[in-house]
Amino acid sequence: MRPFAHLYVHVPFCRHKCGYCDFNAYAGMDRLMEGYQEALELELERARDRLPFAPLRTVYFGGGTPSLLPAELAARMLAHVRATFEVELNAEITLEANPASTDAAKLDSWREGGVNRLSLGVQGFDPRALAVLERRSDGRQAEQAERAARAAGFDNLSLDLIYAVPYQTTSSWLETVHRALALEPEHVSCYCLGFEEGTLLHRRRERGLVPEVDPDLAWEQLDAADRVLADSGFERYEVSSWARAGRRSQHNSAYWACRPVYGAGAGAHSYATDGDRAWRWWNVARPREYMAAARAAREEADREELGARQADAERLMLGLRTRAGLEPPAGFETEIGELEQLGLLERLDLRVRPTRRGLDLHNQVALAVL
Ligand code: SF4
Repeated sequence: MRPFAHLYVHVPFCRHKCGYCDFNAYAGMDRLMEGYQEALELELERARDRLPFAPLRTVYFGGGTPSLLPAELAARMLAHVRATFEVELNAEITLEANPASTDAAKLDSWREGGVNRLSLGVQGFDPRALAVLERRSDGRQAEQAERAARAAGFDNLSLDLIYAVPYQTTSSWLETVHRALALEPEHVSCYCLGFEEGTLLHRRRERGLVPEVDPDLAWEQLDAADRVLADSGFERYEVSSWARAGRRSQHNSAYWACRPVYGAGAGAHSYATDGDRAWRWWNVARPREYMAAARAAREEADREELGARQADAERLMLGLRTRAGLEPPAGFETEIGELEQLGLLERLDLRVRPTRRGLDLHNQVALAVL
């Protein structure tokens, strides 16, 4: 099996469940945090003992809201990863933080624990958009968190923003992008709001309480953001990701290149390869059940082996999320030819990559190759 050089650790706790969120995240479970950390430690030690790991090149603490962990517990989590695995000297270690739960003491403990990249879930600055998203943080907190992070020595900040929010105009969205840029981030992710089934936002739309967003307006907002970001020196290197030179997310790039990633924690997914074979597995999703399962060494909920064609299709689909594209696997000539005809893909030597339109319409590319 190809060794894992990328580790994802899931922290499923949130202060409040945002209306649009379909992540494996739970509010009101803070009392489980310590037991959850114990379960994570059991899982990680077992993974190290039974699977091949290379020195870790990236570690990503995602959620949920990792910044909700008390500073001592976050320090314990970071120290445990370092004690369990060899971590490359210049590894990218990212932690997702919510501005509302980020303070100087936590920032110091993350820095001391080796975190060198923060992903701040800002989502927006427009109070009306934040209200639709049911985010319980505001623009002021994002600005404070950014200042505190810089003061603590973080020089690699990513900001997450959401566009195509009901009631949001393109000019208020652009105001959001400009306020984000005023924080001088190294990386920006702009996600199109989804109405995922099972979320409160989806139910509210079904009941006519929030309007649909016109796809043309969503595209207009994406296009407007891309222009502003490009003018400010950011390169759009993936469907939803813009970075300054040298600041692309190494961890996410591992997913898009289909490199093996070990995912630890409730509901986390792992992806492994061995020669031509590829498979993935995922953990029990609910925190309390995950904790009991990890104590019994049974945290894996299920797994699936990917057929060769499916593995190639996924590699192609994920590689085509990135502007750099990839050398395509054999057997997709017809699909690639058709997408080229539509102006969604272009060839560059042996590689195939999405055009700007192909990045914007990645769903269409994905549908064609999967
Ligand atoms: S903070 Fe993030 S993970 Fe938690 S509920 Fe809100 S969107 Fe979901």
